[in-house]
Amino acid sequence: MSLYVFNTMSRRLEPFEPIEAGRVRMYTCGPTVYNYAHVGNLRAYMFEDLLRRYLRFRGFDVFQVMNLTDVDDKTIRSAREEGLSLNMFTQRYKDAFFEDLRILGIEPADKYPAATDHIPQMIELIQRLFEKDLAYRSDDGSVYFSIARFPEYGKLAHLCMDGLRHGARVNQDEYEKEHVGDFALWKAWTEEDGDVGWDSPWGRGRPGWHIECSAMSMSYLGESFDLHCGGVDNIFPHHEDEIAQSEGATGKPFARYWMHNAHLIVEGSKMSKSLGNFYTLRDLLAKGYSGREVRYLLVATHYRNTLNFTFHGLDAARAALARLDEFRQRLRDTAASTGAGALPDWAAARQREFVEQMDNDLNVSGALAALFELVSEGNRLLDAGQLSAAEAAAVGELLSDWDRVLGVLTPAQEEAPPDVLERVAARAAAREAREWAEADRIRDELLAMGWSVKDTPQGPRLKRSA
Ligand code: AMP
Ligand code: ZN
Repeated sequence: MSLYVFNTMSRRLEPFEPIEAGRVRMYTCGPTVYNYAHVGNLRAYMFEDLLRRYLRFRGFDVFQVMNLTDVDDKTIRSAREEGLSLNMFTQRYKDAFFEDLRILGIEPADKYPAATDHIPQMIELIQRLFEKDLAYRSDDGSVYFSIARFPEYGKLAHLCMDGLRHGARVNQDEYEKEHVGDFALWKAWTEEDGDVGWDSPWGRGRPGWHIECSAMSMSYLGESFDLHCGGVDNIFPHHEDEIAQSEGATGKPFARYWMHNAHLIVEGSKMSKSLGNFYTLRDLLAKGYSGREVRYLLVATHYRNTLNFTFHGLDAARAALARLDEFRQRLRDTAASTGAGALPDWAAARQREFVEQMDNDLNVSGALAALFELVSEGNRLLDAGQLSAAEAAAVGELLSDWDRVLGVLTPAQEEAPPDVLERVAARAAAREAREWAEADRIRDELLAMGWSVKDTPQGPRLKRSA
């Protein structure tokens, strides 16, 4: 049995076989740090997290690089509007990005190279493109890639470039480019760039967006690596251009597999500031949802299906998690301190199903179906008193194992905010002192904060209230 993934390059499911057996080198396009990430962006990082977690679960040693685009038109413009240096401005959004990842339980990549720290590598790559006669300089000092000189241009996006390549010459009076499809490798400095710029053999300027990813991926992963990911909007022109630059310079295949997540839309329409349906993680936390609930929502839809984000969906995520928490707690109570025995057959069948489904291009809907089937069967046996302590412990371990992939099972108790935990402790103290009225008052306070507390022989137990 092996893992199959959908390769955008071939538009087919292919068995996943990395270049070096057992070791996966992956590159994922990261954020442009000029704003807080919206839930759509977070969906992309969540897909990549699920993919990396599953590769690790399947025994691969994974090395992941994610870039931070900290210089482009938007970052420069916004920094100037706020009167901040580019670095000071982007640092705020770099910090916010890492905070989002932490709240969502997205495991960190191995490297987060920032574009501004890799300008020499980009200049060197552009020089190689000149040596291969794939780059040219325009009058204003910018440098472009010539798609007409790279016959494979269009292979990822499956574009037929014939018409474009031979037909549309650009009027030299109006454009600096030889061809409409040519893209900038290096942008000559202009007034709008203020103090942002680097010296290069072509004069002062800054790199184009695409060259950043080619240079940084190859610096950390080698000229050929296994996996390159991003959202579908990255396929063209960004990833197409990365291929042209990288393969044009090295003459070697760039990435073996290209995987792209479908978009997230909001209540049926595109997310946009003007429609007022643009949500950041902060917005959702402010509405009382937890990172874990957002994570569940983003993880639970297959990455190649459009995800329609709704508040109803978040409420459903909350309910699904409550069901999982309750089952897990029943298993713990039944297992008590007994060690895990053999996994009962009915659970082993679900275990196989989980892996089969995930092996099929990360079919998470199928994997979650196996998970909830396990919960139903387990609950039935628990109700009938037919699950032994050792079996309950084994099923509990299976859930923990699956959670290495899903990352959604951390019980609510561990993620309650400090003020909630402080109230829980105060209530326990009141009960200890037999101040029942005070304890009840705090219980109501907690309910108003969105948490219900239940007293068990193991101590107070917190749950998100509906
Ligand atoms: P950006 O910061 O715009 O470069 O985007 C970061 C990542 O988010 C890229 O992988 C994009 O393809 C992805 N992305 C952007 N918008 C959406 C969306 N609405 N749904 C899913 N992924 C998206
Ligand atoms: Zn990129």
